[in-house]
Amino acid sequence: MHKKISRVVVVGGGTAGWMAAALMRRVLGETISVELVESDQIGIVGVGEATIPPIQHVNSVLGLDEAEFLRETKATIKLAIRFENWRVPGESYYHTFGAPGRSQAFCHFHHYWTRARLSGLETNLWDYDLSYLCCEANKFAKMQVEDPMWELAYAYHFDSGLYGQYLRKYSENLGVKRIEGLVEDVSIDSESGHVTSLKLQGGGQVDGDFFIDCSGGRALLIGKTLGTGYEDWSHWLPCNRAMAVPSRRFESTLPFTRSIAHSAGWQWRIPLQHRNGNGLVYSSHHYTDDQAADILLNNLDSEAEAEPKIIPFRTGRARKQWNRNVVAVGLSSGFLEPLESTSIYLIQSAIVRLLHLFPHGGITSELVDEYNRQSQIEFEHIRDFIILHYHANERDDSQFWRDVRNMDIPDRLQNKIDVFKTDGRLIQDQYDIFLEPSWLQVLIGQGILPGDYHPLADSLTDEQLADKLANMKKAKAEPLPQMPTHDQFLEMFCGAA
Ligand SMILES: Cc1cc2nc3c(=O)[nH]c(=O)nc-3n(C[C@H](O)[C@H](O)[C@H](O)COP(=O)(O)OP(=O)(O)OC[C@H]3O[C@@H](n4cnc5c(N)ncnc54)[C@H](O)[C@@H]3O)c2cc1C
Repeated sequence: MHKKISRVVVVGGGTAGWMAAALMRRVLGETISVELVESDQIGIVGVGEATIPPIQHVNSVLGLDEAEFLRETKATIKLAIRFENWRVPGESYYHTFGAPGRSQAFCHFHHYWTRARLSGLETNLWDYDLSYLCCEANKFAKMQVEDPMWELAYAYHFDSGLYGQYLRKYSENLGVKRIEGLVEDVSIDSESGHVTSLKLQGGGQVDGDFFIDCSGGRALLIGKTLGTGYEDWSHWLPCNRAMAVPSRRFESTLPFTRSIAHSAGWQWRIPLQHRNGNGLVYSSHHYTDDQAADILLNNLDSEAEAEPKIIPFRTGRARKQWNRNVVAVGLSSGFLEPLESTSIYLIQSAIVRLLHLFPHGGITSELVDEYNRQSQIEFEHIRDFIILHYHANERDDSQFWRDVRNMDIPDRLQNKIDVFKTDGRLIQDQYDIFLEPSWLQVLIGQGILPGDYHPLADSLTDEQLADKLANMKKAKAEPLPQMPTHDQFLEMFCGAA
């Protein structure tokens, strides 16, 4: 007989912990109890301010009011990331949440664009993407359109501390019990090896059937207690430290994240309603912390509002993200670079997966294996996408960039690059959160241009092709003049000052 699961204990009250508590309780309701243990002595990592569009599914499942959410978390709209200096210093490109042109079965727009480019017509792929046009014009509106060509997919930048508090209030209203306390010891059942209870400093004890480890980089249950093991990916993603600092907000708020490459790492700049978030992600083999602080502070656009905070990390993942009766969610489950803002998405995706596979009737090896299989594939796809940004560079100004350019990369990524380079085709995998338009923009932005295109693109004459491109460019820009600026939108929609 498998033991029925009804008492869920979440360890940790960062973004992962509160999102897990809120979603579990909202979806599974009274079938489970949820207790969350967190320690003010340790605190949260406190970064993680940029998201990707699936965050809207979380808000919709939780039934959050978008205007209230934007107000409470001091959020702004994110349409893209602008990658600056990544291919070569002085150049930039966007990875938007949109797509160039209009999607067409079998022959995507970029094949027409490639044919035009190969026949000598100079044209910028991003001119056919409304998200890019909005970023350049600093505009945003919630589009209600019948034609998906004008859909504007978006995500948010938010204050992660405020986001945690917002989810905490929400979860407590749903009956999640918060326990303040430092977990000092963990009891294990000698037969099954399952976690049975947490011992708190000062004498308290929390019992549970199922534990969600959201203890951050400490990986208290999945790592320290169960010794699950960690797959280290630092040979592909060599940055191992970040330094974060807030700075004064600008007069006007950009609707995108900036990612600015330096000689051995990169800097993020994230606009919020009340401040900018900044940070440098770097390799300690190439910069000392003092050098990193100099680079970061000398490259702020406005004055710093606090001392820089250092956050060490190791890229990789827990070998099993579900082990015994513990599922790791958030930083305890692994960490990929914040380059594509995927960690909060991975938290969401882990919880959704757990909700699908939740072992009400008891834990079975089939459920555990399926959960681990899906998690592994998902992490690996995101890893490959991030490696692409580093590997496909043409910078020659430091050993760091030469090393990442010359390193061996995972076979699946190499294959993707080769197929695109030769035939212009994009290989899409079911578990890859990044769809074809994302890969397309980063491949082209990093200088990997297709040498051929789909034969269907030959169905037009040269003249028809030139017309198609010119009309598309015009059509994509049509909504722009009526759209408010990003700041006007924030003010109208949620009363942001
Ligand atoms: C530099 C950097 C930049 C990032 N940028 C982004 C981004 O732009 N977008 C994005 O999606 N993600 C980003 N992330 C990731 C994001 O910050 C995390 O995924 C997110 O904050 C979740 O963290 P967490 O909840 O897993 O851990 P934490 O925030 O570290 O929370 C851990 C919790 O566990 C508790 N805890 C730990 N040990 C104990 C104990 N013994 N007893 C009791 N409680 C304990 C702590 O008190 C805390 O409440 C970034 C990460 C880094 C490092």
